[in-house]
Amino acid sequence: MGEIRDNVLKLRSEIPQGINIVAAAKSRNAQEILEAIDAGITVVGENYLQESEEMIEAIGRKAAWHFIGHIQKNKVKHIVPLFDMIETVDSLELSGLIDQHSAKHGKIMPVLIEVNIGREAQKHGAMPEAVPELIRQISGLPNIRVKGLMTMGPFVEDPEELRPYFRLAKTLFEEIKALNIPNVSMEDLSMGMSDSFRIAIEEGATMVRIGTRIFGQRPY
Ligand SMILES: *Cc1c(COP(=O)(O)O)cnc(C)c1O
Repeated sequence: MGEIRDNVLKLRSEIPQGINIVAAAKSRNAQEILEAIDAGITVVGENYLQESEEMIEAIGRKAAWHFIGHIQKNKVKHIVPLFDMIETVDSLELSGLIDQHSAKHGKIMPVLIEVNIGREAQKHGAMPEAVPELIRQISGLPNIRVKGLMTMGPFVEDPEELRPYFRLAKTLFEEIKALNIPNVSMEDLSMGMSDSFRIAIEEGATMVRIGTRIFGQRPY
């Protein structure tokens, strides 16, 4: 006890004020998440619908909830009413579903477009070169708002190897921003995790998603 609080305070003191910390909470219980919120965390990221339903039920609106996991299409109808942002949108089909369900809830859903910045075969996310056109198409949907990009980057031994990928993501982010697409506000660039957030911030992240450095090693 107290460890999560110390971790959050330490992180907050290391990370510049304008940068948002998303506490990546997969496998954590409500008490752990509440401890992080009490220490100043304002955004919680969840990967799995079932787990997040339990947590949101227990914790409610003390923090904003971001969906940061892979989305199965049949789960969209449950995800939309629960979450304040979806960070992992990578297709027009998925966007269409989010748009439909958002309309039903009288909601305009903020989303980030997940980019497969390393162009890896097995990874989720849109290929970088497809992202501008994808965003243009999504911008025509009335109940969804593109707010920026999210990326994971490849698995690497040394986080320093992620720097060129983060740099590419930032370049793409700026290119899209310069297009001034109506209904699109390029505000958020979500990249960097416990091992790589410093590098991500140096390369232009506005949002970092941090799990183990807040909560400790995952129990599973
Ligand atoms: C788990 C997770 C994180 C955080 O990972 P840590 O290495 O524990 O900081 C960030 N983003 C996503 C999408 C995750 O699933």
